[in-house]
Amino acid sequence: MTAHQPDANFLKEHNARSLWHPMAHPGDSLANPPTIVTGASGVRIKDVDGHEVVDAVGGLWNVNLGFSCQPVKDAIAAQLDVLPYYSIFRGTTNDQVIQLAEELRDFFAPDGLSRAFFTSGGSDSVETALRLARQYHKVRGEPARVKYLSLKKGYHGTHFGGASVNGNANFRTAYEPLLAGCHHIPAPYTYRNPFNETDPERLAQLCLAALEDEIAFQGAGTIAAFIMEPILGAGGVIPPHESFMPGVAEICRRHGILLIADEVITAFGRTGSWSGSRHWGVQPDMMCTAKAITNGYFPFGALMLSERLVEVFEKDDTGKAAIGHGYTYSGHPVGAAAALACLAETKRLNVPENAAARGTQIFEGLQDLAARYDLIGDVRGGHGLMSALELVSDRATKAAVDKKIINRLQEVAYQNGAMVRVSGPNIILSPPLVLTEADAAQILSALDAGFAAVN
Ligand code: PMP
Repeated sequence: MTAHQPDANFLKEHNARSLWHPMAHPGDSLANPPTIVTGASGVRIKDVDGHEVVDAVGGLWNVNLGFSCQPVKDAIAAQLDVLPYYSIFRGTTNDQVIQLAEELRDFFAPDGLSRAFFTSGGSDSVETALRLARQYHKVRGEPARVKYLSLKKGYHGTHFGGASVNGNANFRTAYEPLLAGCHHIPAPYTYRNPFNETDPERLAQLCLAALEDEIAFQGAGTIAAFIMEPILGAGGVIPPHESFMPGVAEICRRHGILLIADEVITAFGRTGSWSGSRHWGVQPDMMCTAKAITNGYFPFGALMLSERLVEVFEKDDTGKAAIGHGYTYSGHPVGAAAALACLAETKRLNVPENAAARGTQIFEGLQDLAARYDLIGDVRGGHGLMSALELVSDRATKAAVDKKIINRLQEVAYQNGAMVRVSGPNIILSPPLVLTEADAAQILSALDAGFAAVN
């Protein structure tokens, strides 16, 4: 078998018999063979059957600069020749990682973040944040602060720590028991919430009150950190009211709880701001990043740390601040070179500006679809290039849509020019941030065709 002569049926059969897919039922591959992607350029992907479509998924929320970002490709190739790998565990470092840490320090200075701890991806960045939060409290003499709070509907990757703070049963149940001491509060999700509150601002206040209540119940002195996405992503793109994250930050600060912003999706421009925290005017204590840091071309991530942590760790003279955590690929020189090139392109192209403009275009287009198709129960977005449609079989009862309908819709949208993501009852759109007006229009018309086919 060579990669250059792909025969669709041959590949589908071999795919089914030799590999398991993340986030899929292993028995499903033969009955529903996945699309075999053979190439990509600009914001489009090509498949083995000859389709070429706009990738409205943006890889997995990570290919912000599209698939043809030559400076990043060149940086990777050049670095492979110079230093293809060396660890940055105690005792060694490399020029790429030093330069990148300096660049990130400048980039995230408005977020109050001044150190980077490098990882191999989003789940690793979350795990690192959760661990360092506990250690921070131990170093400063409050070892009882070990619990974590998070939002229902939140997604924080698939390591045991991240899964324990995840707020969706489908990423938890099969793997329980999870980490003890993780507690969840209601998400500011206006379409469905336990308060039956549809006003975003009032709902934000109710969720903040629930957070205060949970802190009082657990005892503030037992809680290490609160982790949240500035805009919930994988849980179905749930943007909170603008008062929510500042409210969380204020409560956390008042109770000595660290605020971890999980910005694996939202950092580097996706929300129309340089970071999700900046979008809401919040300075978190830690920020988890990954994905777009290398445009998806190399597995890489960084946990950014605020001065508050830096001081406690760097001034420790008891030995307690020694970090017993890290990954073989932490600070990988090729990943660091990719990230440096990516950051330069991200700034040069001023991607948040385009993300905001195209995000508005798509959000308005989705609202227009909702006016025409009853299957759409809720339209969410309006903050850059992350949006979702929640489908229902009945708008009055909000009953779930049949899975077959949403799968068919996705298939027809694909045939009409756009790859969209289905996650439970949601269609999620997170295209590259370099999308043009015509590309965005193509996504909307492909979706329109999909809805027309299942209407
Ligand atoms: N946190 C968030 C907010 C995410 O969206 C993701 C991935 N979708 C992760 C963590 C995990 O990242 P990874 O898949 O790179 O481990």
